[in-house]
Order: sequence, then C-alpha cells, then structure tokens
Amino acid sequence: PDRTARIIRQKFMDYFVKDCGHQYVRSSPIVPFCDPTVAFVNAGMNQFKNIFTGNRNPKYRKVANSQKCVRVGGKHNDLNIVGTDGYHHTFFEMLGNWSFGDYFKVEACEMAWKMLVDVYKLPCSRLYVTYFKGDDKLGLEEDIETKEIWRSLGVTMDRIIPFGIRDNFWEMGDIGPCGPCTEIHYDHTGCLNRAQLVNKGLFDLTELWNIVFIQYYRNIDGTISLLPSKHVDTGMGFERLTAVLQNKISNYDTDNFSYLIKAIETNCANIKKYEGKYGEQDWNNLDTSFRTLADHSRMVTACLADGVIPEQNQKLRRILRKCFSLSENVFQKERGLLKELSNYVVDNLGHVYVEMEKNISQIHQIIDYEEEVYRDLKNNARSEWEKLLKDNKQLKSLDILDAPSLIPAYKDLQKIKPSKICGELAFKLYDTFGLDSYTIEKLAIALDIPFDTKGLDSELKKAKHKIKQQVIIKSSVLEELEKECIPKTDDSFKYNFEKVVDDYKFE
Ligand code: ATP
Ligand code: MG
Ligand code: MG
Ligand code: MG
Repeated sequence: PDRTARIIRQKFMDYFVKDCGHQYVRSSPIVPFCDPTVAFVNAGMNQFKNIFTGNRNPKYRKVANSQKCVRVGGKHNDLNIVGTDGYHHTFFEMLGNWSFGDYFKVEACEMAWKMLVDVYKLPCSRLYVTYFKGDDKLGLEEDIETKEIWRSLGVTMDRIIPFGIRDNFWEMGDIGPCGPCTEIHYDHTGCLNRAQLVNKGLFDLTELWNIVFIQYYRNIDGTISLLPSKHVDTGMGFERLTAVLQNKISNYDTDNFSYLIKAIETNCANIKKYEGKYGEQDWNNLDTSFRTLADHSRMVTACLADGVIPEQNQKLRRILRKCFSLSENVFQKERGLLKELSNYVVDNLGHVYVEMEKNISQIHQIIDYEEEVYRDLKNNARSEWEKLLKDNKQLKSLDILDAPSLIPAYKDLQKIKPSKICGELAFKLYDTFGLDSYTIEKLAIALDIPFDTKGLDSELKKAKHKIKQQVIIKSSVLEELEKECIPKTDDSFKYNFEKVVDDYKFE
C-alpha cells in the first residue's frame, strides 16, 4: 500500500523538498515555451534551459519537479518502439532535481543514492552506476571524481562502469552547455555480474536515473571550455521507478497502466484478455496493441489537456489515428473507445496535473472531432489508396493511416521520377506533405530507390537553425512564466492552468 504510484511520486517530492531543501516547481506544459526547436517537452530540464545558457538568473538555486514528457520525434524518438517493450513510452513523467550553481557532484550522487537505497529501500545488489570515461579527441578527461564518489558511497568497483560520449556525455545541442553524466541502472533479475549488460537495451536491466553535471560549454568551433558556474540536472523515469518498487518487470503491470489495460478489456468484451507477452517486433500481436493503446491514450489526453492542436501537430494527429485504427481493427470498437480511456487517464493523473481535469470537455470534443475526420478521410482515401496499391504492390508495407499525406507525395514522386531520395527531396516530403523519416524510408523501399537519411538529418538541422535565429525570447515573459511555475504554499500540486497558457503565448 505504501508503494502505490501516487505515494512513490509524493515521496520523491517530500524527500527533495522537505529533507533536502529544494523548491517544488510545477511541470511545464508539454508545449515548450523556452525552446522553439522542439515540438514537445522531452525532459525535465527544458523549462530551465535558459538558466543553463546563462540567459537568465534562477529564482531558486535548488528545485525539484515531476515533468510531463513526450518523446515522439527529434533526437529522442521512442514512438516506434512503444508497445514492443515495457519501459519506453510516448508520454511519461520525469522526476528530477536541479542545482543551479549550488551543489554539485558529491551532493547530487549522495542524494540520489539515499533516495533509492534509504527512502525507497532498493537493494544495492540490484543497482549499477555508469560514469564518463573521457574522450581523447575532445580533450576531455575521465570523470574520476564521480567514480570516487560512488566508491565512497559504498558501491563496489564491479558495479561502476565507464562509458564514452554517446552514453555518458550530455549536450544541449551543437553549441551550448554540456557535461559528463552518471546514470543509475536497475537489474530486475537479481542475477550476479551483469555489469557487461548495462546499456545493451535489455528489458530487465534498464536505465533508471540520469544525473548530468553541466560544467562545460561547447563553442562554435567545436572546442570545449569550462563554465563559470556549474549545474546539476537529473531525470528519473517515474513509470520505471514504479515498476521497480512494485516488483514488476514491465511498466504496464503497475498501477500507472494496469487500470487502462483493464478498461480496454471491460470495454471490449469480445476480445481475448491481456496476457503480458512480448513478441519480436510483432505489430499484430494483441498484447502489443493493448500496450500501445494504453500508452497512446495517456499521451493524447496529456497533449489535449495542454492545448496541443492535432490540426497543427502532425505527430499528435497520427497518434490519434493510430488509436482509432487499433480500436476499430484490433479491439472491434468502432466508436468512442479512446474518449472512454481518456476519462480513466484523467481519473488517474488529474490530481497531479490539474489541467487534465479542468480541460476534460476540450479533450472529449477534440477526440470526437478527430474520430469523425479520421472516418471521413479513410472512406475518401480508401478507393484512391487501393488504386495506388494496384499500381505498386510494395506500398502495402505503408499504413493507410498515412494515406492523406502519402497519396499526394507519391503522385509528386511519380512526376519527378527521382533515382534516389536525397536530403533535399526528403526534406520537401517532410515539409510539404508531413511525412516523417520512418515513412519516407518505407516509401523509398517501395519505390526501390535509395534514401539518404543523413541528408535529411542535415536538412532538418539547417531548418532548425533558421528557426532558432528567428526567435528571440523576451526575458520579461520568461520571468512571468517562472512565477506561474512556482506554486503558492497552499496549493502544492494545483495551479491556475488557464492563466499559464495565456502567458505562454508570446510573439
Ligand atoms: P533509454 O536509454 O532507456 O532510452 P534515455 O537515456 O533516452 O533512456 P534520458 O534522456 O537520460 O533517457 O532520460 C532520463 C530518464 O527518463 C531515463 O533514465 C529513464 O528512466 C526515463 N525515460 C527516458 N525515456 C523514456 C521513455 N520513452 N519512457 C519512459 N521513461 C523514459
Ligand atoms: Mg532513449
Ligand atoms: Mg540511455
Ligand atoms: Mg540517459
């Protein structure tokens, strides 16, 4: 009973706020207000970005929060694996603590370790830690300091594992604050000596907590210099933590998700029950569909509560359509299932993220509207789609869900008959027709021509850079925003969401 998700979340806040003197800061909305270069907030640090870059002064030097995150695009895109594993979601909560020029490595590691071992009572024999091993090319030294801190906390050497730039060095972007990180991983099996298996993508040995030490600055010429003040930025996946504390290997077996699985079962009586099986990338697997729909219903509810408009956000729209398609084709429920699930999500999360409760009628309205649009589109696109399939059988591997954007893109390609999809062309498909890289790749295979993924990446980077230069964020607006994120003492988890949203709209 003291391990329900609700209590686990509360304990994290109590520990950092009451025991360690941090200021609680609310989750920012999922729509980023400090960073026009990402479509969704994907980590707890997003709302503090300008503090790290030195563009604004922190109001508090030690803060903690639980941030709503979405990872369906950009550098962190987990969309295509969601449902196939038990620990990556499109929407998840990230628990975090920060030091803005206050404490550094010793305190950060110590607090994290105590949180897990003393407060949550996790056995050390299940934990591994990683640290940065240095990089000759960049002239960065091994982070011996962190290694020694872990040793002094009682972690044995066989559980302290060095990793390079890819795993243990965090960078905000091509230019900007960066630094080594140290991560805590959890072994669900309890077997001995699994150090070699850390960071290998195993479902039973997963990353739990990432602690970043922001101490460097990456310059425009690629060199790295020291920052005048040092910061700590940490993020722990709340759903993974819950799984660990409830002794479940899969997040879907915890009370963050089980109510949704059950809700799908009760609403779709003709369907077999959920068995919790995982297949090899088997997209038709019923259990995978259960997980995907449960995951997506949280994501959709959270986004709609925060005012993300499907019409303006292709990713959200596509996920909504995936839900409708699963409801109809797998769960044999032609109408209303997603809307029903959104009620359960609000019941479960509304006490933490009040905007969900508050905006429930907006959530329902948009789901209803999108369901209608989906049905119309499918009816209209179907005959044309079938014509195309006759023309090219390979197109079968593509999803009819994408038909509305695929059909014009395909026609366009037939006109120009390219010998390959180069970066520029791919960017056009992305920009004009809204195809993502995953779909372009499938399209290229169907047309039997090569696709230059790297070319697309560099075009996207260029485009991002352009946006970055166009947007200047007013610091007065940001200050107002920060005020709104700090709750008054009497409403620790509640806030006036409407007002916050109004404030976010700046030119
Ligand atoms: P992984 O290697 O497992 O994909 P990550 O290194 O991408 O995780 P970070 O960017 O370090 O994750 O984010 C901090 C924490 O957030 C992770 O340690 C993990 O607990 C959690 N997390 C990351 N991605 C997801 C996700 N898609 N769903 C749920 N939790 C996640
Ligand atoms: Mg990841
Ligand atoms: Mg990782
Ligand atoms: Mg990580």
